[in-house]
Amino acid sequence: MLKQLIACCAALMAISISLSASELPDFGSSSSKIISLTEEQALGDDYMRQLRAFAPLVNDAEINDYIQHLGFKLVENNLQAHDRKFSFFVIRSSSINAFALPGGYIGIHTELIRRSETESELASVIGHEIAHVTQRHLARRLELQNQLSLPTLAAFAAAILIGVQSGSADAGQAAMLGTQGLAQQTIINHTRSNESEADRIGITTLYQAGFDPNGAVSFFEKMQANSRYHSNALEFLRTHPLSRSRITDARLRSQEYPKRNISDPLTYQLIKAKIKALAEKVTPLSIEQAESSYKQEKNKSLATQYEYAIFMIRAKKYAVAEEVLSSLRASHPKQPSFAIAEAQLNIHRETPEKSVATIQQMLVNSPTNLALVETLSELYIANKQHKEARKLLLENIHMTENTPYLYKLLSEAQEGSGHRSEVYETEGNYLLQMGDLGGARIQFEQALNVHTDDPYARARINAQINRIKEYLRQRSLRH
Ligand SMILES: [Zn+2]
Repeated sequence: MLKQLIACCAALMAISISLSASELPDFGSSSSKIISLTEEQALGDDYMRQLRAFAPLVNDAEINDYIQHLGFKLVENNLQAHDRKFSFFVIRSSSINAFALPGGYIGIHTELIRRSETESELASVIGHEIAHVTQRHLARRLELQNQLSLPTLAAFAAAILIGVQSGSADAGQAAMLGTQGLAQQTIINHTRSNESEADRIGITTLYQAGFDPNGAVSFFEKMQANSRYHSNALEFLRTHPLSRSRITDARLRSQEYPKRNISDPLTYQLIKAKIKALAEKVTPLSIEQAESSYKQEKNKSLATQYEYAIFMIRAKKYAVAEEVLSSLRASHPKQPSFAIAEAQLNIHRETPEKSVATIQQMLVNSPTNLALVETLSELYIANKQHKEARKLLLENIHMTENTPYLYKLLSEAQEGSGHRSEVYETEGNYLLQMGDLGGARIQFEQALNVHTDDPYARARINAQINRIKEYLRQRSLRH
């Protein structure tokens, strides 16, 4: 069943690609076989909307902030990337992989972040994916895909419709379908020459951005060594085939640059720790194991303490978490991650008021930190200050494009502060960001039926409905 679903998704992708390419005036005609940047972007936007509806994207503001920050640091150091649009996102997955979709959407699996040993290793993979985008390897691939897949379309067509419907009915399988179907299919599998080109550019970018240029080699070697023991390295190798010569080439390339010994920033260590603590299943046995190994460990790093505190909050061992966090807070009073973890603890303990002033002050110091905006909103809502939560969210919600979790909080704040009429529009925006176009449209249409005091609401809502119509129109043209 699962195999069938994955095949369906692959076929769906193939269809979207072939037919969208066939919309182009010069398609199939001659030498110019690459789809236009505009078309690639529209296709990528649509894939991304579908991916959001199916795949388990990480909605943690700290993790998302971190990966965007790292991604754009690399983009800034790749001259060819300057005129392209990029967006980085994290997928919850126990397999090690990263991939680029059309339109500069780069997905990184949680397991890849977790298994990287240095930030340079992680950055090397992202730099490599950025190069696939700038060199338009995907666009070239889309054309090839078109030629290869046309004969199979008819065979898959019937199955697709069934696959899509049953896929959306089963969240677990749909999630698999989203990541594996998208990541493993031929779109992502680049040719050897594309791979070595992306390595070459990626390593240069890595060095320019201030990382250790040897990061790529050490990560490749780890993947190769791991593949003998761990199946979760296989996905990376399947989509990024590693030959001996590829590793040798990468080594030679990185040796062109001076060696760098870099100590990784604390944020990188903390993000890895958070991913680990969130991935661990909470069971009586896992709690016991975490407690005993924590006790045995000497000279605990900050990341180890932080990971333990987050896991203990999830395990509802609040007193243990409090002890660890208060020592972290005392030694690093300005570290947002520790204050955010403490705020989460206070929300769970129903004492949100204890954290409000701290997070308010941190937000004054770092006004663009979305994780702080999210945390303060959660604190306000838990503390029944819905009015303050609504104001804060309305001021910050447009800061970045994809913040569905903030829309969820906003609808709660609007409901709680007596602005019930605004909730439809907010729910519509939430569903739109989650890729549910039909559901979003229903909410926006409801929103038009209620009275609000906002003179611009109607125009704004109509604009959203028109956007959805346009997305659906473009999608139907592709299928
Ligand atoms: Zn690659």
